[in-house]
Amino acid sequence: MNRVYNFSAGPSMLPESVLKRAAAEMLDYEGSGQSVMEMSHRSKVYDAIIKGAESLLREVMQIPDNYKVLFLQGGASSQFAMVPLNLMTKNHKADYVLSGQFSTKAYKEAARFGDCKVVASSKEDTFSHIPALDKNEFRPDADYFHICMNNTIYGTVYHELPDTGDVPLVADISSCILSRPIDVSKFGVLYAGAQKNVAPAGLTIVIIREDLIGEPQPGTPTMFTYKTHAESDSMYNTPPCYSIYMCKLVLEWIKNEIGGLENMERINVEKAGLLYDFLDRSKLFKGCAEKDSRSIMNVTFVTGDADLDAKFVKEATAAGFVNLKGHRSVGGMRASIYNAMPREGVEKLVAFMEKFEEENI
Ligand code: PLP
Repeated sequence: MNRVYNFSAGPSMLPESVLKRAAAEMLDYEGSGQSVMEMSHRSKVYDAIIKGAESLLREVMQIPDNYKVLFLQGGASSQFAMVPLNLMTKNHKADYVLSGQFSTKAYKEAARFGDCKVVASSKEDTFSHIPALDKNEFRPDADYFHICMNNTIYGTVYHELPDTGDVPLVADISSCILSRPIDVSKFGVLYAGAQKNVAPAGLTIVIIREDLIGEPQPGTPTMFTYKTHAESDSMYNTPPCYSIYMCKLVLEWIKNEIGGLENMERINVEKAGLLYDFLDRSKLFKGCAEKDSRSIMNVTFVTGDADLDAKFVKEATAAGFVNLKGHRSVGGMRASIYNAMPREGVEKLVAFMEKFEEENI
C-alpha cells in the first residue's frame, strides 16, 4: 500500500484510523451481518448511528440545546437557496459579504428570492483578504447577515466575527467546520458540506437556532424547508446514511484520539505555521492571502511564474504530494491541510518545497 499525501480542497483525506475501522466494519457492522451501506435507515441499528452522530456533534461543537442539527443532502450549494427560502421571510432582505467565489454564489442565489445587499467585498483585491466591515452598511431590518467563514479557494478566514446585533448571523463553514472551537450561540445558522473535515461527500450539516425554523417563502419545495427536516429528525426521506456513519467515526476520532476541538486547533495552527513560516522566508514562493486573513485550512501560494508553478505541481505529484494545483479560476498552488492531514505530511511538503527552491532559483 502506498498512500499519498492528498492536499485536495475536498473531498479530502480522512483519518487513517477511521478508514481502517470503516473497512473492518464493512461486511458486518456490530454483529448485524450487514454493511452500514446496506441497512435500512429506519432500522434500530441505524437509528443508533444517526443519533450517536448527532449527540457527538453536539458534544464536540458544544451546540446549545436551542439549536437543531440537521443531516441533509444537496451540498453547501443547496444551502445557498435554502437559507433565503427559509429565513428571508419577514422583511425579505438579507445582507451579504463577498469574500470569495462561494459567498458570491450564495449572494447570487439569494438575490433570486429577495432584496440582497452586498455590504462589503474584497473582489477588487482578488479576494486576498476578508473585507473590512462598516457597521453603517448593515441593515438592522435585514432578515439575516451572511458570511462564508473560510474561503477555500483563496485561503482566507475570518479571525473576528462581525457584530450584527439582533440580525441573525448565517455562516458557510464548509471548509473550517471542526477545525477549531466555534461559539455556536453567536450564529443563527451554520452550514457545511461534509466532504472536507467531516465525512465523504453526500452529507450537508445544518445547525440552526430553533426560533429561525418557521414557515418558508410560498412555493418552497418540501425538501427545501428546514421545518420538514427538523420535525422528522432528518428522517423525512432517506438520509445520506453512510456519510452520517463516517461522520460519527470522525467525531469519535476527534473526541478520543485528538482530545477535542481545542487540541484540534492547536495541531492545525502548528501545521499551518510550518507552511506559512516557510512561505515568509522563501525567495521563490509567496503566500497569496494577506497575513491577517490567513486560513489554517487552505494555504495558497505562487512562484509568480505560471510555468514554474506547473513544474512544481508536476514534480510534487510525482513525489507523492497530490492535488496541490490551485483552483482552476485562480491558478498557482493551494495546500489544503484539513484535520486529517498528518503533521508529517506538511513537514515533508515543506522539505520538498525547500529542495525545489534550491534547484530552481
Ligand atoms: N462553500 C465552501 C466554502 C466550499 O468550499 C464549497 C466547496 O468546496 C462549497 C460551499 C460548495 O459545496 P458543495 O460542493 O457541498 O455544494
